[in-house]
Amino acid sequence: MLAARASWNRRVPGGLVRRRRGGRACRGPRLERGASGVRARDLPFRALARRDTRSSRSADCRTRAAPGGGPGGTGIHARRPRGRCGGGHPTARRGVGDRVRAVVVGGGLAGAAAALELASRELEVTLVSAGAGATALSFGSLDVAVPSPGVSGLPLRDATATRLLSPRERLAACLRTRPRHPYATLFGHSGAGSAESAATDAVKSAAASLDGWLAPSGLRVEGGLDSARLLANVRGALRASDFAFTGPAEGDLQGAAEVEVAAIAGLAQHDARPLARALAAEFAAIGLARPALRVVPLPLPGGFVADGGSPARLAARTDTEEGLGVLLEAVAGRHRDEARFRRADGERRLLLLPPILGFSGVKAKLARLREAAGCRVAECLGAPPASPAGLRLVRALDAALSREGVVVKQGRVCALERTGRRVCAVRLSLREGASHTEERLEAEAILLATGRFLGGGIHEREGGVHETLLDLPLYDGAGVRVDGLAARRLVGPSPEGPQGLFSLGVRTDSCLRPLGSDGAPLFENLFAAGDLVGGFDSAVERTGLGVALLTGLRAAAEMGRLVEEESP
Ligand SMILES: Cc1cc2nc3c(=O)[nH]c(=O)nc-3n(C[C@H](O)[C@H](O)[C@H](O)COP(=O)(O)OP(=O)(O)OC[C@H]3O[C@@H](n4cnc5c(N)ncnc54)[C@H](O)[C@@H]3O)c2cc1C
Repeated sequence: MLAARASWNRRVPGGLVRRRRGGRACRGPRLERGASGVRARDLPFRALARRDTRSSRSADCRTRAAPGGGPGGTGIHARRPRGRCGGGHPTARRGVGDRVRAVVVGGGLAGAAAALELASRELEVTLVSAGAGATALSFGSLDVAVPSPGVSGLPLRDATATRLLSPRERLAACLRTRPRHPYATLFGHSGAGSAESAATDAVKSAAASLDGWLAPSGLRVEGGLDSARLLANVRGALRASDFAFTGPAEGDLQGAAEVEVAAIAGLAQHDARPLARALAAEFAAIGLARPALRVVPLPLPGGFVADGGSPARLAARTDTEEGLGVLLEAVAGRHRDEARFRRADGERRLLLLPPILGFSGVKAKLARLREAAGCRVAECLGAPPASPAGLRLVRALDAALSREGVVVKQGRVCALERTGRRVCAVRLSLREGASHTEERLEAEAILLATGRFLGGGIHEREGGVHETLLDLPLYDGAGVRVDGLAARRLVGPSPEGPQGLFSLGVRTDSCLRPLGSDGAPLFENLFAAGDLVGGFDSAVERTGLGVALLTGLRAAAEMGRLVEEESP
């Protein structure tokens, strides 16, 4: 089995051969990047599922299986099934040829990453998505280890205040000080070097995988764990970022001598002057030398910013050649008479745009803008209420799912069928235009990547918070069981203090199987990933997309292992 798996991932001159289809080797994307980027060819492709750790983890996962049924007793959840497994027969195993079916519920980063990883293992996988969740709202950084200074207790700078802490140091601090964070479940929280190096390897490998999936859509994952980039958001707040996506990723303020903050008349949710003032204050607060900051109006023609100044509409305009042409002209023609400001060379000057560079092809647009501007060009990170960055990510993930042959169903899973300690099928309500159809899918392994309140994985009903599909036990960031409690009781008194409402989720074993109150997995073949896994508050500890990616990939590795072990 291992030999067969190794053959999916052979190296050949010119790129990685990631898998075989129909006996033919398929060449994966050749991933190579400059010094600051991820070099996939240098990395173990799947550090998350390393063979040396798999066997011990498998044993651990088997011995910790619960002796009894899941929550609510043995039987059928939510709806009486008509299929075999609901009737108490042994679980029906369904395969297509030599493939076995895995179902992923949720189309955010956690679900998409898991489905792509399963597909790369030649497992037939179906992803069901009810629509946009938190991933579609994200702001443009892939936060793996970015705690906020002050509020999280993890400092942005070292004790001597001479430098920014590297992402690697902050990842290690997270493992040491946050025993309930999902990273501690994945890598251990002893603070031992082995946990840190396992986490570091996994992060590098995961970032390289994601980069490979997104690159064909012109979206890259930039950055690394060795040094932080200082990025500005549209409100002028500074973020020490480890990884970010094309657009904001190019906006590292360290090393910039001059920053031009672009002002666009009539654009809603973006005001260049307060942004520049806030940036100056942020630099002063962290005691770093700041670049010269200047607000620069972009001379866009009247009517170009329409629809009440909607940033999303403006972003959509730059997806057309005509709209991009207008922006290029405005960038080239900005304050021609103020050459005295431009004393630094082009590499040390940065033109900071609001996040308006459309939903596709951002890398190519930036190259053209850079040429027109005569200096580096980047977008700000987004801020509430929304930014195009999340939709860009979702579109690029959708394109990757389609390229990799993952079956995607737009619809809602309304129930899971179970027998004993196994889940065996999902029941879906599918949208087809105005009509709805119902479908039942049997599965060997099921992943819940349904998010929290925004995704729909957790909701409040009958006066209490509940996991939506199986009423799985929920815990807050302090490890207290909270399902059934009213949401308002989970809001802390201080906005900067712990907020149970924003850190709640399921607790899992290291294979990412949800645990019952006795600490044992509730089902042998049910996994959870992403925001649904509790123990962290992404508004405070960041790490939102980092957790989604790392748990999605780990869950896929465990699902793949389970399905292979159970295949005849
Ligand atoms: C405004 C905002 C900005 C953020 N910005 C950043 C950022 O810049 N960087 C960062 O690292 N993190 C950021 N985060 C956090 C990050 O977005 C989330 O942690 C991450 O996207 C969670 O991904 P997920 O896949 O677990 O869940 P989601 O993206 O919420 O996806 C859940 C999916 O499950 C589906 N689903 C739910 N129930 C069902 C069902 N019954 N049947 C079928 N499908 C179902 C939903 O339709 C959705 O597709 C931000 C969060 C917010 C709210």
